[in-house]
Amino acid sequence: MQPYSILLYYCYTKIEDPDGFREAHHFFCLDLNLRGRIIIASEGLNGTVSGLRADCQQYMDHLRSDNRFDHIEFKVEPSPVHAFIKLNIRVKPEIVNLGLPHIDPNRKTGAYLEPGEFLEMKKQEDVVVLDVRSNYEHRLGKFKDARILDIDNFREFPEKLSELQGLKDKKIITYCTGGIKCEKASAFLLENGFNNVYQLHGGIIKHGLEAGGEDFEGKCYVFDSRVAVEVNRVNPKVISKCHVCQMDCDRMVNCANPTCNLHVPLCHKCAREYEGACSKECQESPQKRPFNHSGYYQKELNGYNPYRGIRREKNNFQERGNVERRTPIND
Ligand SMILES: [Zn+2]
Ligand SMILES: [Zn+2]
Repeated sequence: MQPYSILLYYCYTKIEDPDGFREAHHFFCLDLNLRGRIIIASEGLNGTVSGLRADCQQYMDHLRSDNRFDHIEFKVEPSPVHAFIKLNIRVKPEIVNLGLPHIDPNRKTGAYLEPGEFLEMKKQEDVVVLDVRSNYEHRLGKFKDARILDIDNFREFPEKLSELQGLKDKKIITYCTGGIKCEKASAFLLENGFNNVYQLHGGIIKHGLEAGGEDFEGKCYVFDSRVAVEVNRVNPKVISKCHVCQMDCDRMVNCANPTCNLHVPLCHKCAREYEGACSKECQESPQKRPFNHSGYYQKELNGYNPYRGIRREKNNFQERGNVERRTPIND
């Protein structure tokens, strides 16, 4: 059994004092040695963290025991190691950046489809499966026959409304990585005159865990050190090509030249030849990072302090006692 878990979760719920909540939450996560990214807003919480299995369990129990989060769902994946190098918890206006803070999925959102229901419904004739993720994500993998959008960032989703007008008489099922983007994307469609809007509850990751990822072609892009994960154990297929040689390839890397940093599939052969760079030019760049064979370059930890941002209120901090002696999360 793998010693670590990777959690992916979100919860739309009212958080009255996001800054105060953040502070307490940060301490709690530090104590559990969790690493990852958590976004807190007055509209809820969005996170992906890794930690030892028991610590992750305690984290989940803790959140579920809080009335505000009693409807939270966690996608839990096993891992041999931490999937992040640090903990980053921030307060933002929205828990997923769509630029539409007025949309409240607690009031209105597309109807949830569980993975099995999704597989059934998408067989119907009048159904369009809509990928609401960005180009770098659906290029690497997407549901068979899904409609995709040419967007580089989820914030551009509302601009694509005109492209979708012709689908108003269809049933639309939106999907994304973990379900959070669909909460707002489907609500936005409903708000704009689409009447039959559904969403894949829990996204691709939950579909992979509960329905074997059936009909998902390629790999699923994720926002941790794994970069991309296999989700389909039923009928897998590679759909992406090596950026250099155009052979089938689903190995996602960042170009080793940091000023390029292009995020593309790169096969083993080309990666060896270009030492992890996306082109001859990038290979010859003086800044090129040494190729580590993963194509994932963690940001330097120089000067990283897990307590940064929680010392603002000095008195509060001192009242907490022995904080100084807590074990920092990085080693
Ligand atoms: Zn290649
Ligand atoms: Zn490059």
